[in-house]
Amino acid sequence: MSQYYPRPRKALGQNFLTDRNIITKIIAAAQPAPEDCVLEVGPGRGALTDLLAQRVRRLVAVEFDRDLAAILRQRFSDASHVVIHEQDVLKVDFGPLLGADRFKVVANLPYNISTPVLFRFLEERHRFSKLVVMLQKEVGERLAAPPDCSDYGVLTVLFRQWFEVKREFLVAPGCFHPAPKVESVVISLVPLAQSRVEVGDQSLFERVVKAAFAMRRKTLWNCLKSADLLDPPRLEELLAECGIDGRRRGETLDLEEFARLSRQLRVARQQA
Ligand code: SAM
Repeated sequence: MSQYYPRPRKALGQNFLTDRNIITKIIAAAQPAPEDCVLEVGPGRGALTDLLAQRVRRLVAVEFDRDLAAILRQRFSDASHVVIHEQDVLKVDFGPLLGADRFKVVANLPYNISTPVLFRFLEERHRFSKLVVMLQKEVGERLAAPPDCSDYGVLTVLFRQWFEVKREFLVAPGCFHPAPKVESVVISLVPLAQSRVEVGDQSLFERVVKAAFAMRRKTLWNCLKSADLLDPPRLEELLAECGIDGRRRGETLDLEEFARLSRQLRVARQQA
């Protein structure tokens, strides 16, 4: 049955997947099983939703576009295991929406909000068993970047701390309607049972990481000094105690070095 759809809305990052092969590959990466609960973010015209609904126990979809949410609700009106919420994924309260079940996430993300959505997934990671997300290639590269390259940043360090990150495959603009201007990549993220490193105090660790990348051209010493984390003379000593040269740039530190710095900073701040 043909379906009337409203014109794609650029402001909502609406680039709909049309390539059957890519749709199949995304579903294969998510490995939906009959006992699974799946959260789909931005189901749009339902390219992935139809296949997911056939395979899982529970499917929750969050779509911001009122018209598309209404069409999907109608389409799945006989499927009690599928619930379509017309909501903004950046504001939705995942607790009442998902309950106590652990969910797989499948999302072809609207590219204009992909980074804040990733940070939400990071915050809510305890709810998820696996995430398969499509992003613009540039953001995907940041998730999987090694230290000392321009893509390496806050997103890389925090996702490396909490997830196994795997770059699945690239997707060309011609696989969507309308075609986006950039290439895309599918990434899978599996939350670790615990942090990959001992950081001492998570919020202090995040402050340190954010400070280190806040002024990318400045040295680590300058960045940390500006963040007002510790008296400058003590900060200088602390860097030496950690075996980290303050003249380095933040982007050269690996996860273990950030963790060491954060642990020792915590102790130094308690003693100050
Ligand atoms: N999953 C569909 C597909 O693969 O063809 C659509 C993907 S399209 C790139 C992104 C979808 O996210 C659109 O349907 C758009 O309306 C929806 N969207 C945009 N902003 C959103 C938000 N803040 N919360 C939830 N969904 C949003």
